[in-house]
Amino acid sequence: MTVTEIHHWINGAEDAGSGSQRQDVYNPATGQVTGSLHLADRQDLEQAVQAARAAADTWSEVSMSKRMQVMFKFRELVHAHTHDLAALITAEHGKVLSDAAGEVGRGLEVVEFACALPQTLKGEYSDQFSTGIDVYSFRQPLGVVAGITPFNFPVMVPLWMSPIAIATGNAFILKPSERDPSASMLLAKLYKEAGLPGGVFQVLHGDKETVDGLLTHEQIDGISFVGSTPVAQHIHQTATAHGKRVQALGGAKNHAVVMPDADLDLAADHLSAAGFGSAGERCMAISVAVAVGEAADGLVDKLGQRARDITVGEGTEPDVEMGPLITPASKDRVKRIVTEAESDGAAVVVDGRDLVVEGKEEGFFVGPTVLDRVKEEMSAYQEEIFGPVLAVVRVDSLEDAIRVINSNPYGNGTAIFTGSGNVARTFKRGVTVGMVGVNVPIPVPAAQHSFGGWKDSLFGDHHIYGPDGVRFYTRGKVITERWPHQNDVVTASMNFPSHD
Ligand code: NAD
Repeated sequence: MTVTEIHHWINGAEDAGSGSQRQDVYNPATGQVTGSLHLADRQDLEQAVQAARAAADTWSEVSMSKRMQVMFKFRELVHAHTHDLAALITAEHGKVLSDAAGEVGRGLEVVEFACALPQTLKGEYSDQFSTGIDVYSFRQPLGVVAGITPFNFPVMVPLWMSPIAIATGNAFILKPSERDPSASMLLAKLYKEAGLPGGVFQVLHGDKETVDGLLTHEQIDGISFVGSTPVAQHIHQTATAHGKRVQALGGAKNHAVVMPDADLDLAADHLSAAGFGSAGERCMAISVAVAVGEAADGLVDKLGQRARDITVGEGTEPDVEMGPLITPASKDRVKRIVTEAESDGAAVVVDGRDLVVEGKEEGFFVGPTVLDRVKEEMSAYQEEIFGPVLAVVRVDSLEDAIRVINSNPYGNGTAIFTGSGNVARTFKRGVTVGMVGVNVPIPVPAAQHSFGGWKDSLFGDHHIYGPDGVRFYTRGKVITERWPHQNDVVTASMNFPSHD
């Protein structure tokens, strides 16, 4: 098995960097080391930041029309390379190829949104607001921004950030997850092929040390982060203390409420897809099914049947529906939580702890697992499991279901399955969660809307991509302008100026 050297992408080219530290990258389906990742040292970071600074100054002066030509070309290239990107994702993340291609597709939607920037960013104008005075506002880029991204969407999350940052005239440094870094290198090559000047999009690999270097660097103006809640808190605190604009999206514990009037087959189909798809390693995965009243027995039954039918294996195999977890540590965490739930009194309806995939004994697999009668005080409820475990919590009423959701510290996504518009309305207005689905289990907003959770799922004022993405990567400027004719009499006053 050959081990590939994975370099940085600095100033428009691959760069081995001067750092001596390396980190192994695995294929989680086989447990084999496939890559050796170069981690940045201080000099590499400095080189990338200086290249970004210089690029930001020139790129922000490139006309909107020319920037859009690059974005349109990039859109075509990403589309044409969907399968190459998906193959890289599957090789290092483990999710099945069709799911990886779906991730690329959702990222592309943000590229397409960025292609429409001339419409989104055209500003506002108040003609003759005061006699002889016009007032107008427009937005300008922040400068240099860095994006720090998680392992679970190695293409989609960088595409939630970089197209909008770049289209609005910034230079963008990506610090991808060290677990699955290769897809970001292909993105860099595609940006270059699209005509993006060197230094506008760069990839710097590293760990906490590199991230902290970005958070505190005086030449960096903004930080976008997506990852776990403790790290999101650290990012937000450190970078705001260093004067940067920050959006930091954190972890999740997403509940789907199933009402007694719901179509139970539809709910079970969607809950198992949303709970076990990508082995539960999605920030919008459903990890808690809140079964209301008499919905519970039938729902647990159907969830059990579906979980048992899922084919688990290497994501490149055509019939496989669910791949491995990202690391052996993730596998151990999931197994520990299931064991704790069992000893705390939950019923293990389907048990994936001992699953072995034939021929892939070293892979990091855990099978789909369904837990019933989970209580709020159990670790299976409190922790973000980030694995293929669906926990069923039984409650008596819609009010109880909303109370459970609102007491949870996370507030990323939630869903309700019901046949009643009135019940759905009470739910969607009452929950303290940022993204809500009605008979839709994973309500990831379309790119024309912004994505973001509430409470411990997001730190900062801006959601990501969509209109909030444009606001995040730009600063507003308002011009109040007068061009008096030579015969006009313009009087000055010591009083605070009023409009006339
Ligand atoms: P993570 O927080 O461990 O890592 C995210 C990024 O932060 C990586 O690039 C990593 O190198 C860096 N990092 C890790 N520890 C750090 C530290 N101590 N200091 C500075 N930087 C650090 O997250 P992950 O395991 O890669 O991804 C899974 C998590 O991301 C889950 O909690 C999931 O819910 C969350 N997530 C959230 C969203 C969302 O939209 N809210 C989307 C995707 C993933």
